[in-house]
Amino acid sequence: MTSRYFPARAVVDLGAIRSNVTELARRAAPSADRQAQVLAVVKADGYGHGLVPAARAAVAGGATWLGAAQAQEALDLRAAGVTTRLLTWLAAPGAPYAELLRADVDVSVADVWALDAVVAAARETGRTARVHVKVDTGLGRNGVMPDELGDVLARAVQAQSEGVLEVVGIWSHLALADEPEHPSVLAQAEAFDDAVRLAERAGAHLEVRHLANSAATLTAPRLHYDLVRPGLAVYGLSPVPDLGGPGDYGLVPAMTLEARLATVKRVPAGHGVSYGHRYTTTEDTVLGVVPVGYADGVPRHASGGPGTTGGPVRVGSGATARTLGVAGRVCMDQVVVDLGPAATEAAGDTVVLFGSGADGGPTAQDWADAAGTISYEITTRLGARVPRVYVGGPEDGAPTGQGETSEPPTGS
Ligand SMILES: *Cc1c(COP(=O)(O)O)cnc(C)c1O
Repeated sequence: MTSRYFPARAVVDLGAIRSNVTELARRAAPSADRQAQVLAVVKADGYGHGLVPAARAAVAGGATWLGAAQAQEALDLRAAGVTTRLLTWLAAPGAPYAELLRADVDVSVADVWALDAVVAAARETGRTARVHVKVDTGLGRNGVMPDELGDVLARAVQAQSEGVLEVVGIWSHLALADEPEHPSVLAQAEAFDDAVRLAERAGAHLEVRHLANSAATLTAPRLHYDLVRPGLAVYGLSPVPDLGGPGDYGLVPAMTLEARLATVKRVPAGHGVSYGHRYTTTEDTVLGVVPVGYADGVPRHASGGPGTTGGPVRVGSGATARTLGVAGRVCMDQVVVDLGPAATEAAGDTVVLFGSGADGGPTAQDWADAAGTISYEITTRLGARVPRVYVGGPEDGAPTGQGETSEPPTGS
């Protein structure tokens, strides 16, 4: 496939994903008596980084399981030849359970209808389904309520005795893992322990009990059980920005979003900038047009305006590098930065919206702060038309995947 032209790209450092997972695995298995495994969550196109490259890098870093929310994501991983143990957990009636079982995917059951569908699919395919029963220990989202768990388990264990499935997991998800001291965390852990005991008494042969997302993996070792399920941290972002940044947890952000300046031009003082003229130049200055916008995932809520600094853009490099806020509204396809009267930039120069932050430049967390959201939303919303370029891949630095070139896109 030839590389497609686009004046911006997301450079994904697969080495960072590998090392992040290695760090998470070290935290999950710190001693001989605490040996949780890592299930790397690669849903939502690997949090925007690319499903298959992220999955392969996570496995290379030490993940022994992968997790995908949507059934189709799990099937896509299998179709790409990824053979790692794989769990999928979100489906509605009509989901392709038979295909999932043929593809050797572990499935979650959070509803009676799902149990019936899995049993039917197991009978149809002749496969023994590996089932993880999801319990709502307090999140109030997906999961069997504790008072219905006994009933669901009884039905599941009946099917187990008929050989159509094995209840291999009990699992749940936390509501406030990003506030480790919040009483709901302990309450959920206790409800989880009750659910595990109930399942074991009912006759489940539990292989894995799992509760921890990224935040609990990093901050609550007591909640690691047999398997931790980090997502965000795999990609090097902090799930608890108020408690610590990536570096505090040994993580490196894997994605850098960079673009070529499309236009650099001088404008007079008092010139309105972008839709609504929410920004007006205060002096004779130089504007730079950056050819990415909200269609590419740059949040419109991070527009700059009177009294608000827009989302950050790193301009220049080395000693001349500076970080500027977006001037005025974020548009569908572009944003504008005010480069200042003495700007030396030219069309074609590369600017960075976010990256690892190692050079003091902006991060996805900075964009999240500017937009009033979380860093999850910054990378997962990266638009499909932005090429992902992979570095640090298996061929020792050679790029892999689509749109492959290790050179910046040319501006001409
Ligand atoms: C998304 C998700 C995770 C990963 O959450 P992070 O906060 O990104 O670590 C874990 N478990 C479930 C059920 C999820 O939906």
